[in-house]
Amino acid sequence: MRTQVAIIGGGPSGLLLSQLLHSAGIESVVLERRSRDYVLSRIRAGVLETGLVDLMHEAGVGDRMEREGFVHDGTLLANGNEQFRIDFKALTGRHVMVYGQTEVTRDLYEARDAAGGTVIHECRGVKPHDLDTAAPFVTFLHDGKVNRLDCDFVAGCDGYHGPSRQEIPTAERTEYEKTYPFGWLGVLSETPPVADELIYANSERGFALCSMRNDSLSRYYIQCDLSDSPDDWTDDMFWDELKRRIPEEAADRLVTGPSIEKSIAPLRSFVCEPMRWGRLFLCGDAAHIVPPTGAKGLNTAASDVHYLFNALRHFYHDRDDEGLEKYSETALARIWKTERFSWWFSSLMHRYPDQSGFDLRMQQAELAFLRDNEAAQKAMAESYVGLPY
Ligand SMILES: Cc1cc2nc3c(=O)[nH]c(=O)nc-3n(C[C@H](O)[C@H](O)[C@H](O)COP(=O)(O)OP(=O)(O)OC[C@H]3O[C@@H](n4cnc5c(N)ncnc54)[C@H](O)[C@@H]3O)c2cc1C
Repeated sequence: MRTQVAIIGGGPSGLLLSQLLHSAGIESVVLERRSRDYVLSRIRAGVLETGLVDLMHEAGVGDRMEREGFVHDGTLLANGNEQFRIDFKALTGRHVMVYGQTEVTRDLYEARDAAGGTVIHECRGVKPHDLDTAAPFVTFLHDGKVNRLDCDFVAGCDGYHGPSRQEIPTAERTEYEKTYPFGWLGVLSETPPVADELIYANSERGFALCSMRNDSLSRYYIQCDLSDSPDDWTDDMFWDELKRRIPEEAADRLVTGPSIEKSIAPLRSFVCEPMRWGRLFLCGDAAHIVPPTGAKGLNTAASDVHYLFNALRHFYHDRDDEGLEKYSETALARIWKTERFSWWFSSLMHRYPDQSGFDLRMQQAELAFLRDNEAAQKAMAESYVGLPY
């Protein structure tokens, strides 16, 4: 087989890149390790920045999102029983869109099918070769056969555990990492959301987040120990703990019900430099991870796709390779700023096991400053709605 861009990973980064390339007349083949049903069942992100919303439109897959997504003009921050609002619209003139990652992925799969795009599922042993030459190729096992895909470029969109990043020689790769001493226990339930906007809560019992997918589907999280397992938490235990961590008026309104999904995610900040090696370009979780506080994971994946798509478009249409040459530098400049925001917001809202009395006072002072200071709110709102590409 031959294509112009071989894309490893059929998550949101790989599919969005493939669909955008198609819109520009550039061929790609997506190689995905899992089945489509498995990819579509992963409950993950749900808050889209304007940049990602625009990219969905550019890829021709924005219609259902516009109909079914929810525009959020602000968010609520709670500190114990006290609550204040960050008004994105007033502070930045922009907003975010609540629309699940599962729906983004579903729309992209449908668009790829409609365009006759090639997405090969259940590929095993995917391995890029000759990335430092002008003729790279990827081998993989599918349907019991070893296949070879020749290409001009390889996009590594295969998430944190994927093989692409490992292809950058260790001597040329630097990985920066911070692990947090807690995780998030998340519950999805077919209940109406407790509020029209997200509530991020700092309480003396730990962090909580009230989020949603639509009018009858809610996503709630509580900070938990890394040693916890979802089986340790019955639904009743989860709801009781959540109610203790959010303001009383919200707890009184909370509608509870059976969980339809329950999982624990550890929190990590991670960046790999560089994001390009020879003809390999990393996108999304393959190159960086943020803690989910502030909902930046999927959105940073989208900004990489934007830079890589435009670089490839200029290469194929204008024979201009400057965007490809500068891809790593350009993408990383935005990623580090987003890493900063996610780290800052996580530090502000969680309780840390080793937090001293002074640390706690600093956190409280920072929350009070944010509540009272419009400039601080504006800085937060600009990062939350998404820094410009
Ligand atoms: C549990 C969890 C909860 C999250 N919650 C949020 C949230 O609330 N808000 C937020 O903004 N972000 C969240 N994120 C982050 C967000 O989901 C990711 O940033 C986003 O999925 C990144 O997209 P991606 O396409 O780069 O990577 P992925 O979604 O990881 O996709 C990578 C794809 O590559 C495939 N792959 C892996 N290895 C191979 C291989 N060897 N061969 C072929 N294919 C391979 C995988 O199967 C997968 O389909 C969460 C992530 C996790 C894990």
